[in-house]
Amino acid sequence: MIAIIGAGLGGLMLARILQVNGVEAVVYEADASPAVRTQGGMLDIHEDSGQVALRAAGLYDDFLPLVLPGGEAMKVYDKHAVLRHADDGGSGRPEVHRKALRDLLIDSLPAGMIRWGSKVDLADDQLRLADGTVVGADLVVGADGAWSKVRSLVSDAVPQYAGISFAELDLLDPDVRHPESAELVGGGSMFALSDGRGLLAHREPDRLHVYAAFRATEHAPVTPEALAATFAGWDDALLRLVLDADGELIPRPIHALPIGHQWKPVPGVTLLGDAAHLMSPFAGEGANLALQDAAELAAVLVSGEPLDTYESALFARAEQSARESADNLEICFAPDAPTGLVNFFRGL
Ligand SMILES: Cc1cc2nc3c(=O)[nH]c(=O)nc-3n(C[C@H](O)[C@H](O)[C@H](O)COP(=O)(O)OP(=O)(O)OC[C@H]3O[C@@H](n4cnc5c(N)ncnc54)[C@H](O)[C@@H]3O)c2cc1C
Repeated sequence: MIAIIGAGLGGLMLARILQVNGVEAVVYEADASPAVRTQGGMLDIHEDSGQVALRAAGLYDDFLPLVLPGGEAMKVYDKHAVLRHADDGGSGRPEVHRKALRDLLIDSLPAGMIRWGSKVDLADDQLRLADGTVVGADLVVGADGAWSKVRSLVSDAVPQYAGISFAELDLLDPDVRHPESAELVGGGSMFALSDGRGLLAHREPDRLHVYAAFRATEHAPVTPEALAATFAGWDDALLRLVLDADGELIPRPIHALPIGHQWKPVPGVTLLGDAAHLMSPFAGEGANLALQDAAELAAVLVSGEPLDTYESALFARAEQSARESADNLEICFAPDAPTGLVNFFRGL
């Protein structure tokens, strides 16, 4: 029996592929239900990782109708709202809403395979549920994200603040209520970068989903007033993306595990996804890696290969992506931004 801790994209993908292959597994998820938290944001699902996992899960055909048409488009502005780069994408990285993808995976599993409201904690070196029950299994897989409890069974590493904070916000019903902002963002993604700050926006079917990103101390207050001050001097069209927000700002300080995070094999325990290799989102790889980890771990478990075959491949690809994320973060927040990002998209 395999115990998967966490019903994020990685844990669910592992559960699905194991179930398809007749391997017994159960998922313990802290949230009381799938609807308890918003699962915001668009994810581009890469051909060589996320899409491979979806095929292994037998869900690729069900994934295709969830793709946002035109969602691969990209616009890059500077703080004066001068368009520095635009393309229509077409790079084989279809955009899907995280909730739609998560729901697809949840609905693919038999009822009862996910134990909702089952927060796992570490006590006396054992994983236990709130009522004290020990989570016993042949293998425990920590798919419990950035602040993984399972991680400490294999590693002392702790995520460190990356020096960048996001404020997450939404502009609802944009074609009717925020038409100029809808036009500015376009049908896919938008980056506006200058002076070590950024506005990152995605078109979603019913909203513009915006991350205001800036260098700050870890617990700096995130208020509309603080954001207006942070982006003072930026073009009004860009400022509207922040000032016209509907609803609350959600602070998201960005953390990462050390680049090259590894652990020595521990019998009966392994990790996948953010639990193994939390990184800043600037390579757009975190969710894709979680899906790929799940597919590769499932393949090893089904074939009976040793676990360290999975782990050593994970260490190598995670290190490469973590380095890329850290490099991209520097490019986005460099004094001459958005020049580095424009050159990147032009292959220079
Ligand atoms: C702002 C932002 C934008 C991003 N954009 C992208 C992008 O465009 N593309 C991309 O590929 N990646 C992106 N990422 C990264 C991506 O979101 C993560 O890498 C991905 O969600 C990791 O999946 P996971 O399954 O490992 O963990 P998670 O999705 O975090 O899931 C972990 C699950 O474990 C549960 N859990 C936690 N602790 C416990 C416990 N103790 N007991 C039981 N259950 C527990 C949680 O409730 C959760 O359901 C972004 C991240 C951020 C912050």
